[in-house]
Amino acid sequence: MITENVKKALAEIAGGNPFGEKITLVAATKTRTPDEINEAIKAGVCDIGENKVQEFTQKFDAVHGANRHFIGHLQTNKVKYLIGKTYLIHSLDRTELADELQKRAEKANWTADCLIEVNIGSELSKSGFEPENAENAYEKLRAYPNLRIRGVMAMLPLSDDTALLNALCKKMRALFEKLREKDENIKYLSMGMSGDWRLCVENGSNMIRLGTSLFGPRRYPAAENA
Ligand SMILES: *Cc1c(COP(=O)(O)O)cnc(C)c1O
Repeated sequence: MITENVKKALAEIAGGNPFGEKITLVAATKTRTPDEINEAIKAGVCDIGENKVQEFTQKFDAVHGANRHFIGHLQTNKVKYLIGKTYLIHSLDRTELADELQKRAEKANWTADCLIEVNIGSELSKSGFEPENAENAYEKLRAYPNLRIRGVMAMLPLSDDTALLNALCKKMRALFEKLREKDENIKYLSMGMSGDWRLCVENGSNMIRLGTSLFGPRRYPAAENA
């Protein structure tokens, strides 16, 4: 089933987004076993993302052959466990986190590739910089010598108001393009989960994070974004 789902998803994104960009599929692997994750990798997944440091660490050596993303809320006291291990951190959502990442990365002589998380729906339950502050945040964060900002990430609100979701996506795409004009390191707009990724891709997302649609329903409740 996983193999089939992965192949279907990869085939569907193979043509890229309407802006002519390649779309990267990140498998969101929270609650999945190393066997399940390795099956997804064998089926063609090249990028996997955990949203909790404990799971990231526990499965690290048992999973083989994929870029390791960190996609969940990151507590500063857990940053040390990710140093040297991540391909991309999607959840750079506050200055204190950047401070800690900088400190630890510098000590390890490593550069952390990061996306700036934007709370595009300005939801109280979600982290991220407010959309109107995102550009300022970028200017500040790009100055950290051991962080390399590669783009922006957002999670859309749960809503069936397609007009609203399209408008929020377009706002993210505009921000992404604005930053990309200033900085050749900016490459990724990470936006889209199982329920909304097609809408996100239509609006110019080039990195999607899929869990349920690859692996099926999660077997035990994991606090979203915890
Ligand atoms: C779990 C998770 C996803 C994937 O969610 P699905 O709805 O299962 O596709 C994407 N992004 C983040 C940050 C997640 O924690």
